[in-house]
Amino acid sequence: MKYLEKLLNEFPDTPRNIILHADILRRGMKQNPDLTEAGETACITGISTRLQSLISDSKPSPSMFHFKADETSVDIKIDPRSPYEIRKDGDGQYHLFCGDEKFGEVRFTKRPSYTDKKTSDGESCAALLMQRGPFCILVSPLDFCAYYSKGEACKYCVLSAAMDIGIKKKILPPVPDHRTIAEAVAMATEDINLKDLKICGGALYDTKKEAHYYKKCLEAILERIDPPEEITIFSQAFDAEDQKDLKELGATNILFNMEVWNERLWPELLPGKVKAIGREEWINRLIKAVEIFGRGHVGSGFVGGFECAPRPGFLSQDEALNSYLEGFEFLIERGIVPWFTVWTAFSVGGFQVDDPPPTEFYLRLGQGLHELLEKHGVYPDLGFSRMGVNPPTLGLYCYYCFSMTFTRDYPRLIGRK
Ligand code: SF4
Repeated sequence: MKYLEKLLNEFPDTPRNIILHADILRRGMKQNPDLTEAGETACITGISTRLQSLISDSKPSPSMFHFKADETSVDIKIDPRSPYEIRKDGDGQYHLFCGDEKFGEVRFTKRPSYTDKKTSDGESCAALLMQRGPFCILVSPLDFCAYYSKGEACKYCVLSAAMDIGIKKKILPPVPDHRTIAEAVAMATEDINLKDLKICGGALYDTKKEAHYYKKCLEAILERIDPPEEITIFSQAFDAEDQKDLKELGATNILFNMEVWNERLWPELLPGKVKAIGREEWINRLIKAVEIFGRGHVGSGFVGGFECAPRPGFLSQDEALNSYLEGFEFLIERGIVPWFTVWTAFSVGGFQVDDPPPTEFYLRLGQGLHELLEKHGVYPDLGFSRMGVNPPTLGLYCYYCFSMTFTRDYPRLIGRK
């Protein structure tokens, strides 16, 4: 609680739920019987909770919680050392606690009934579909990363290792049949009002082949359902031809995450991506994407703080902060929307849990990014006619899917009545 008080004093102009969001992402959430019980009826297909249950076989907890007051949606990553807990209070409602102090009533996304169903070829919908908020579903046309088996996975990445465990446990095939994915999505739309479809998978050295799987998957889904408001592709940087094909098929947004900005660290940290595409070409393809998809529809994420991990040759925290902000401005000037996630170090990548920088680092970076987005007039491109409101469509600023980053809370919470 003392540390949280310090943060609240140090960032007096930052809305409290942004500070809580950042600190919970950095320090995690304690598992307790109330949270375990909530996991029995809540949506559990979040990225962190799914990874944790794959790696540790633990009972899944809800993938995220939402503050009832303003819908701020926060990813739950279990950490027994965290001061944060969600407990039922005397009124039978769930509240967020830091120590004994209460920080607002919270709720969970209800687990949809399709998650207990199977497709006609016996695949589990829960394994095929990752539901984030009440209206969005993420599917993976490719459930493995080719870099992992060659020892060339991105150094921060736990996803490639988790996908490998999923394949070995036969939870899903490495390339699930796109017709099966489409059938599962169609079953889900009988249950939820799908507004936002996200397609995201592992990676191949041959990005043309990777794009082929994305296109086949999207085609198959749109043969079975009406197009939702937004279709977002998260992938490696595809070339212009593949981008155009995806746009023609109905994709509205494209996200090619660079993950690391520093030019010198790129080959060391992203060996597979360097072989397949390279940093310069990655940036060129992002710039091309703005011509094809338009401003406000192209983005790139970073693993915040990774470049200043306490390792020889890495940057200091101040150097990293300046480097990220320079990179963010470079991208923003070219119509690309950057953001960052709060880095969680899993030992699987050779890093320690205490390697990520403290919450102050992330709050400074978040404030810096927000100021750049304001300075360059980006928020109107993202649908915000004014500050303090939820975005009109989810898309690039979906605060459910992006519950693992607090950067999307600034335009929603600053000036909110
Ligand atoms: S490309 Fe990198 S981030 Fe993506 S799954 Fe492979 S190792 Fe992980």
